Amino acid sequence: MIEVEVKAKITSFSEMEKKLENIGATKSKKEFQEDIYFNSPIVNFAESDEALRIRTTKENDNVDIFITYKGPKIDKKSKTRKEIEMKIEDAEKCSDIFEAIGFRKVRTVRKNRQYYTYENFEISLDDIEGLDPYMEIEIGLKDGEDYSKAQKSIFDLFEKLNITEGFDRTSYLELLENLNITN
Ligand code: ATP
Ligand code: CA
Ligand code: CA
Repeated sequence: MIEVEVKAKITSFSEMEKKLENIGATKSKKEFQEDIYFNSPIVNFAESDEALRIRTTKENDNVDIFITYKGPKIDKKSKTRKEIEMKIEDAEKCSDIFEAIGFRKVRTVRKNRQYYTYENFEISLDDIEGLDPYMEIEIGLKDGEDYSKAQKSIFDLFEKLNITEGFDRTSYLELLENLNITN
C-alpha cells in the first residue's frame, strides 16, 4: 500500500483529545508499540530513506507482531511512501534471521499510541519515550492511486484541528538519534 502520512508536534494530548472529540473523531484502540529498526548490509537505509522493522504491539493481554518494510519518501511535503506489512509469529526468531544474514539493529523505539478514526483518516496520538507529544494523520492508498488529494485532505484536517505549524518529516527514529539518547 501507499502510506500518506503527516506528523506534527503538539502541545498537549488532553487538548488534542478534546478537539478530536469535538469534530466527531472516534477513539479507537490504545496500544504500546515496541519497534526494532534494522539497517541493511547492502545499502544504508538512513541514506536510501528505507526502513525495515519488527513491531510488537500490546493492548491489554493481546500481543501482535509485524514485520514492515517502508520505501523512500516519494514527495516533498508529507511522508508518502510504499509500505509492506505482515503479521509474524516470533519477533526474536525474525530478528535472529535478519542478524544472521547481516542486518544490524539500529535502535528500539517505544511508544504508547492512541488511535482515532475520522472519515478515511487514521489519527495517532503518540507518546514516544524520550520525545515530546506528536500526532500523525494517515491515509492508506492502493498502489498507483493519486496521493496528492489525500495529502491535501490531511493538511486540511490539521487546519480544522488548528494545527498550522510544527509539521515534521523526520522519523521518530531520527528524532531520537538527534537527541543522542542511547538505547
Ligand atoms: P508507523 O507510521 O508505521 O506506525 P511510526 O510512526 O512509529 O511508524 P515513523 O517515524 O513514522 O514511525 O517511521 C519510521 C521511520 O524510521 C521511517 O521514516 C524510516 O525511514 C526511518 N528509519 C528506519 N531505519 C532508519 C535508519 N537506519 N536511519 C534513519 N532512519 C531510519
Ligand atoms: Ca503510518
Ligand atoms: Ca508514522
